[in-house]
Amino acid sequence: MTRSTYDVILVGGGVMGCATAYHLLQLDNRLQVALIELDPTYARASTTLSDGNIRVQFNIKENIQMSLYGLEVLTRFADELAVDDDQPDPGFRQQGNLFVIDEASHDETRAGLALQQSLGGQVEWLSPEQVRAAYPLYENLDGCVGGTLGRQDGTMSPLAVLHAYRKKAVALGARFMEAEVAAITRDAERVSGVALASGERLSAPMVVNAAGPWASKIALTVGVALPISPTKRQVTAVEVATRPERILPALFLPSGLYCIHEGGGLFMIGQSFPDDPVGLEDFSWERRRFEELIWPELVEVMPSFDRLKISGGWAGLYEVNTFDGNAIVGEWPELRGLYLANGFSGHGFQQCHAVGRYTAELILGRPHALDLGIFAARRILENRPALESRRKII
Ligand SMILES: Cc1cc2nc3c(=O)[nH]c(=O)nc-3n(C[C@H](O)[C@H](O)[C@H](O)COP(=O)(O)OP(=O)(O)OC[C@H]3O[C@@H](n4cnc5c(N)ncnc54)[C@H](O)[C@@H]3O)c2cc1C
Repeated sequence: MTRSTYDVILVGGGVMGCATAYHLLQLDNRLQVALIELDPTYARASTTLSDGNIRVQFNIKENIQMSLYGLEVLTRFADELAVDDDQPDPGFRQQGNLFVIDEASHDETRAGLALQQSLGGQVEWLSPEQVRAAYPLYENLDGCVGGTLGRQDGTMSPLAVLHAYRKKAVALGARFMEAEVAAITRDAERVSGVALASGERLSAPMVVNAAGPWASKIALTVGVALPISPTKRQVTAVEVATRPERILPALFLPSGLYCIHEGGGLFMIGQSFPDDPVGLEDFSWERRRFEELIWPELVEVMPSFDRLKISGGWAGLYEVNTFDGNAIVGEWPELRGLYLANGFSGHGFQQCHAVGRYTAELILGRPHALDLGIFAARRILENRPALESRRKII
């Protein structure tokens, strides 16, 4: 007979749910942990639709520390996450991230850079000439006052990282269930478990909302309103005739346009727009949006992109935290036992290592290796935003 009582239930088996399950069992292998995922093919999960990029270039200390910790984990990932002789390979391509800085973001960037460096991040300031040297395709430097190059940054396979955490969590004893959570249940001021769409009920004193873009939908079932909007973001793969000899850093422009060199003439391009559709159903990739909204700027800064082949693209959902654009982690102050790992707003993949560990420590009452209290849910109720930038949320 299958069990129906657990110590911890995780709603959502994306990278957050799997990393948290792993850390829980790594800290205490006697725990009964259920990891519930409605679609084990992860067709719509943000994790598998993500660009898989990690960067040290943040302005909030804890965001920088989370990335530095993620980079440290990546150096021992194959050993730490191995199951028997099977060592996972996240395919980490440490190509660096180059942010182009304009006048408007200069002061904020300089302050962020100083903080990154003081914490041990290998990020350096480049002059406009050095920006061009680092990114030879970048011809039009109008408005560029410099750049920041994070040499440790890079890109990897989100699916490989997700599968590694999932496999290790299961090897340590987590029960991975293919099922849909219809509602989180409560008993007065405490969480009591979940009700599945099948009608089955599972009980647990601790439930973690790790449902990514579905986080607010699932939280509402237990009366908790989260400021999280599932927002469509699309990525387009293009091929150009120019084939840089070496892999270039991923390029981030002040407008938010980014361009990740995949090798040869292949690039992945994306950008967020204020009118990106909000909702849980639209996963369509729109060629028109690339052609009309992104391509013109791309050609302006890199004229050789005037002729390119659009190889295809995809769309996924950011779980945008409309309050302040940052993670919401820890227990919801008004409902004991409900833990959140939500609201990552486009930078959650790289934070899975730190958030998974922190959430497990919180649940088990262990000391924190890295205190993420700045991202506690209470700040929402107390109206204390934790902003990365004074100029924009994301
Ligand atoms: C286009 C794009 C590019 C991105 N690029 C980056 C990047 O370069 N770097 C970075 O750090 N981040 C990036 N992100 C953000 C990152 O992907 C997410 O922050 C991160 O993957 C969130 O992980 P998660 O496990 O919380 O969510 P998900 O991966 O979405 O997992 C949530 C899971 O919950 C399941 N679920 C939902 N509801 C239920 C239910 N009721 N019952 C059971 N299961 C349920 C879903 O099926 C899903 O598998 C990007 C996101 C997108 C969309």
